[in-house]
Amino acid sequence: MTKVDAVLANALLPDGSRAHISISGGQISAIDAASSVIANQTPVLDLGGDVVLPGLCDGHLHLDKTLTGLPWMGHAAGPTRMSRIETDKTILPNLPLSTAERSVNLIRQCVAKGSAHLRSHVDIDLESRLTKLEGVLDARERCRDLATVQIVAFPQSGVMRRPGTLDLLDQAIAAGADLVGGIDPGEIDRDPKGQLDGIFAIAGRRGVGIDIHLHEPGELGLFNVHEICQRTKAAGMAGKVTISHGFCLGDVTESKARAAVAAMAEAGVMLVTHGAAGWALPPIAMMREAGVTVFAGNDDIRDTWSPYGTADVLERAALIGWRADFRRDDQIMIAYDMVTAAGARALGVADYGIKVGARANLCTVAAGSVPEAVAGYPPRKLVLHNGQVVARDGATLDRAQAPGRA
Ligand SMILES: [Zn+2]
Repeated sequence: MTKVDAVLANALLPDGSRAHISISGGQISAIDAASSVIANQTPVLDLGGDVVLPGLCDGHLHLDKTLTGLPWMGHAAGPTRMSRIETDKTILPNLPLSTAERSVNLIRQCVAKGSAHLRSHVDIDLESRLTKLEGVLDARERCRDLATVQIVAFPQSGVMRRPGTLDLLDQAIAAGADLVGGIDPGEIDRDPKGQLDGIFAIAGRRGVGIDIHLHEPGELGLFNVHEICQRTKAAGMAGKVTISHGFCLGDVTESKARAAVAAMAEAGVMLVTHGAAGWALPPIAMMREAGVTVFAGNDDIRDTWSPYGTADVLERAALIGWRADFRRDDQIMIAYDMVTAAGARALGVADYGIKVGARANLCTVAAGSVPEAVAGYPPRKLVLHNGQVVARDGATLDRAQAPGRA
């Protein structure tokens, strides 16, 4: 019989059932309703009926841009994307905390809010080259016991308009980035074919996925959605390509949106959204019905692009639900899925969920159901990563602890 390291007793599972969760070697080894599993020698942590969620997934953030851990700084950039891009180049290199230090601060804040899996974009440009990537790689290593961090080599300043960037993206993958990024191939580069061919070539050569920031509205955005789908199909990259934002899907006629969504479903192109203010929201429910994986992320968290953000993806799910007008429980469960199972699928997380054999990456919330946890996003009481307690009562611990021994 497997040795049980700890039992999380009296858990409310997302399906509404009550059970005791046994953990062995960092995995869930049993889920049992019978109280006989609470053996007298096993450390037992009584959850008192709190709801237990699988480790949350933040599918889109920017660790390298955050100001987390610094005294408050007022927003310095102008109102345009290009102004923010240029402002980053003067502010970020001169901060009193390094990229690695700020990234560690933000990862720890994400973990305190129950996130177990993160996908961070990291700027790669001609000025900073791979230095920000090196900082985030360092932070990922320092936080390896707290969360998994996927890194997208992100050409924030453009690709074709900045010759040499494609080479840097390629080098970034060689240096440890997990996916190649892209940005507004029409609006920023004015060369969709050049940028998309370039990044798909790197992905093909290196065997990695793609995640493209697509802010472009209306017809221009739709044109690039179809271009991305076409290349994904041709390259056999179903399930490995993500469009970030895809605002255009929410601001064109329904028939045009449906055609683009059908192309995404057929090609296996996914969408991540943060429900941005000031932009159209993609038709989340319709996309999911069509078979598109739609997941969520916080995007900017107290950084040079936005002063807002708490790193809580349950709060993000609530914001998305609010914007999408999700009121019924079954609709709120869509928002929940976007920060759990759909995010895990998009990030390729193996052994995910609350089931026997899954990694014991869990968080607990004082709520009577998942919709209540999403709508009110109370603090995470406990966060476990690989079976170890890594955060308690909303704060990340300095050292992971075995459950039941604290
Ligand atoms: Zn972003």
